[in-house]
Parts: sequence; structure tokens; C-alpha cells
Amino acid sequence: MHQLIYFSRNTMSGDMLKGLKEILSVSQRNNQRDGVTGSLIFDKVWFLQILEGDIEAIQATYKRIEQDPRHCEATVITLRPLIQRQFPDWGMGGLLRSPDVQEIFLSHGIGGEMDPRKLHAATVGDLALDLKAFEQRKRSDTRKAS
Ligand code: FAD
Repeated sequence: MHQLIYFSRNTMSGDMLKGLKEILSVSQRNNQRDGVTGSLIFDKVWFLQILEGDIEAIQATYKRIEQDPRHCEATVITLRPLIQRQFPDWGMGGLLRSPDVQEIFLSHGIGGEMDPRKLHAATVGDLALDLKAFEQRKRSDTRKAS
């Protein structure tokens, strides 16, 4: 089991939420097939993505991703062995940076514009886990309310 974390610069314009949804839909389909899990954080300028799975599956996935014209400057922050997955139930969870989650970014030292070139792998991992917990609480509250 390995984990790869990278960042890249968005090149999409127009409806970014729609763009993110399209990426996530294909990612979830492919990643489920390939046994890859992880998280994709998007702040409209930068993508931060965590990919977990067998090393061959991660490398094949990343090879496809880095050729995608919807982003550029893909840069690996870390590729490391992992004892167990941190996102076992997420084929690819997607999180758009919105005012709702500003406090979570702040708690990881990201106040204004995010500069992923200055982020450590551990910070990205912890941020993604906190964003996942936030998303799961939100979904559970919505279910209870309906
Ligand atoms: P198809 O979905 O059929 O796509 C065929 C080709 O068209 C590919 O080369 C694709 O890059 C290109 N393409 C499709 N839609 C668009 C579009 N709207 N604009 C420009 N080109 C387009 N894929 C994964 O499998 N797992 C991931 O975790 C993953 N994460 C991603 C994260 C980011 C930030 C980005 C930008 C892309 C990500 N992708 C991911 C998508 C990946 O880059 C490939 O597009 C996808 O894996 C190809 O899937 P497919 O072989 O089923 O081809």
C-alpha cells in the first residue's frame, strides 16, 4: 500500500464546480475499478490530491492525471508506503474550498491564498482528513433533517 500526494495548477475556466464534478465522476469510476482511494481538494487555483492503493495502480492513475489538460505543473509532494488507507471509503472524495471550510484551512495555517509549494505532506493529509470529517458531518445532518 502506498500514498501519493501531489499538487497542480488549475487551467479550467467557466463553471468550476461543474468541472470538478466531471473530474470526480470519472475518478470514482476508474478508482473503484483500480482499488484507488483518496481525496481531491480544489480552491479554484490549485488542486491537491491524495491517491492511495497499490503502487502500480497509483502510478498508472497519476500518469493519466498528469497528462490531463485541465491542469498543469503537477508536482509530487510525497510517495510513501502506507500501513493502512486514510480514505478507505472514498473512491475519490472531492472538496471545494468554500467559506464553510475556511476555519478548517485556517486551523492548518492556511489563511489567505493557498500556496501548495510550501505545504508539507503531513499538513495536506491532516487537512484532507478534517475536510472529510466536515463533509461527513454535513451529509449526516442533511439526512437527519430530511
Ligand atoms: P475518459 O474519461 O473517457 O477521457 C478520455 C480523454 O479525454 C482523457 O485523456 C481525458 O484526460 C480527456 N478529457 C475528458 N474530459 C475532459 C475535459 N472536460 N477537458 C479536457 N480533457 C478531457 N482520473 C482517475 O481515474 N482518477 C483520479 O483520481 C483522477 N483525479 C484527477 C484529478 C485532477 C485534478 C484532474 C484534472 C483529473 C483527474 N482524473 C482522474 C482524470 C484523469 O486525468 C483522466 O481524465 C481520466 O483518468 C481518464 O479516464 P478514462 O481513461 O476513463 O477516459
